[in-house]
Amino acid sequence: MVLTNARVIDGTGGAPLERATVRIEHGRIAEVGTFDGSPPDAAVDLDGRTVMPGLIDAHAHLSSDISRSPGFGPPPPLKGELPRPRELGYFVLAKTARTLLAAGITSVRDVGSYDDEAIALREAVRLGIVEGPRILSCGRIISATAPGGAIFTTMYREADGPDDMRKAVREQLRRGADFIKLMATGARSVLAEDPEPAQMTAAEIEAIVEEAHRLGVRVAAHVEGLAGARLVVDAGVDTIEHGLSLHRDPALLDEMARRGIVLVPTLSTFHDLAERFTGAFAPALVEQAKRQLEEAYATLIAARAAGVTLAMGHDSGPPGENAIELVRMVEGELPALEGISAATHGSAQALGLPDAGTVSPGAVADLIVIDGDPASDIRMLLDPRRISMVLQGGAIVAERPRARELSAA
Ligand SMILES: [Zn+2]
Repeated sequence: MVLTNARVIDGTGGAPLERATVRIEHGRIAEVGTFDGSPPDAAVDLDGRTVMPGLIDAHAHLSSDISRSPGFGPPPPLKGELPRPRELGYFVLAKTARTLLAAGITSVRDVGSYDDEAIALREAVRLGIVEGPRILSCGRIISATAPGGAIFTTMYREADGPDDMRKAVREQLRRGADFIKLMATGARSVLAEDPEPAQMTAAEIEAIVEEAHRLGVRVAAHVEGLAGARLVVDAGVDTIEHGLSLHRDPALLDEMARRGIVLVPTLSTFHDLAERFTGAFAPALVEQAKRQLEEAYATLIAARAAGVTLAMGHDSGPPGENAIELVRMVEGELPALEGISAATHGSAQALGLPDAGTVSPGAVADLIVIDGDPASDIRMLLDPRRISMVLQGGAIVAERPRARELSAA
């Protein structure tokens, strides 16, 4: 397949290539060149539209619990209705997968789901039962015994002491996890947890990282306060999730940059708690989130200045609106091309997928075609009518008429 007469944003942060041609062979990009005005036979003329890597959400919770996605799933049950069968949840998951793909999300890293739903969905996609993005799952989140365990139930595997941490890592691999996620600090959404101090000991975190890396999988660390951040950087985790306090310690950000630890700022989740779902959370948590929201934006700027690799993680709902996180990163003063790079190349690094997230020879042809130039108006990525094509491994998996054809209809 050849896409021609296109603007290419390659995902590395460089200037767009105008009037370009992208040749795809065997699911991978074979060549990116200039369009000389005589397209080869069967080339798809994109008429100046933008080709860029598919978006990658590095922090998602694939779940049939749609409480953060009002309107996405079935309407809430009414009193008097029969209880909903639990299996309905799997149809919600299938809808989630299709919706993500249509929105241009070609890979997703699930950082915790209930009852191993993300692993079930990953297998459904892998086996071709439902269409969806490539999914990586952590299995269950490894946490110290903590109040969050009482709230997040089957999303967590509570463990205590280095040996139990090792066992918890091994259990996740037995479940089919692709990587490991740990809770280095408490969570901002749990009233009985203080997100500032480290929740695990240094020895516990080191045991998880050592076990995971020895067995060949990566480690994502939930981090809010600085004490936890210092422990996970020392232990050599691969990604820091949230990490909002990092702006308070520039030397630690320098160390992250030096070691290639990716930061997933998840701005949207702080908007959720501080602004969007204020009626649903304990008031003290809403007040805390307002402070954290400011800190998260301060950390975005400080991390960029330190040269830390950034990734896009929505950590919110509904599925398909993930690019709002990219918009927020850009509104938080990340230049648009850098924001796009975070949502593609940076996220691919977070997932440990060196052959994804760029439009360059050898990369897997997970691509989206945008009707317009997202570098000049990043918000167009939120408009489904602008996503005119989604390719996965070189195959067209979603296609829409262009916006002007829609408006003419
Ligand atoms: Zn999360």
